[in-house]
Amino acid sequence: MNNQQKTISRIVEYSGIGLFTGEEVKLRFKPAPANTGINFKRTDIASQPKVSANVETLSGSKRLISLGEKGAGVKSIEHLMAALAGLGIDNIEIEINGNEVPAGDGSSLLFMQLLKGTGIKTLEEPKNIFCLQEELKVSDGEASILALPYDKGLSLSYILDFNGSFLNRQCFEIEMTENNFSTEIAPARTFGLSTIIEEYKKLGWGKGVTDENSLILHEDGTITKPLSMSPAKLRFPNECVRHKILDIIGDLYLTNLTLHARIVATKSGHYLNTCMAEKIFESSKKQVHN
Ligand SMILES: [Zn+2]
Repeated sequence: MNNQQKTISRIVEYSGIGLFTGEEVKLRFKPAPANTGINFKRTDIASQPKVSANVETLSGSKRLISLGEKGAGVKSIEHLMAALAGLGIDNIEIEINGNEVPAGDGSSLLFMQLLKGTGIKTLEEPKNIFCLQEELKVSDGEASILALPYDKGLSLSYILDFNGSFLNRQCFEIEMTENNFSTEIAPARTFGLSTIIEEYKKLGWGKGVTDENSLILHEDGTITKPLSMSPAKLRFPNECVRHKILDIIGDLYLTNLTLHARIVATKSGHYLNTCMAEKIFESSKKQVHN
């Protein structure tokens, strides 16, 4: 296995619409030197503020992950972060002329293909590999995430359970490799529960929702497109639980670490995922100091 840091080989651009804001945003991905990490640059603001994508710049509410200062930050980063984790990209600069990363098709597929298409460049310096040595746990009601030592790499499992009539329980487990990620996880799309659509509308969110970038789960267990309400053709029978693992991979990459651990998640969302990312990051700092 190659344990050296990576970036992309050349500049590539992509434009699309943000899921929450509905605004068209342009991204420009640029190669970056070793040990510089993942950085956004808001080119629509005169001072072009830089926003680093790591746990120390996290802000925002429980359901949305935002980075950086209010007004000069970036949100909806998780599916892009998952693609970067999947490709093992440690360093990249991302110019963005708005505050939300475009949704693409609601999965990581588009970002994977786009970045892989540029060619991945291996740098001289070693990757920042962190082998978890202690057991970590975060929980919130019935939701929890456990992180356990596991020296073989990164293993993730998720239990999705809406209790009762709502969608059958789905479980999925995967060993994180570039190939497993690109074929089994990256294509899994965003979904939302029909019960929270109204709440979203009231908050003025979801302006960029289209039939092509998300799925809606109904109380009787059916899954449809969000606008036309026609039955959705799933990419996997258990696409929802796979998307939950995609989200965890993206959120945990806010540690900017190549993590070796076993992650066991039950009903967790972005809030708990980022709490775990913070704990893992703290644990890695302790280990460096020992
Ligand atoms: Zn997601």
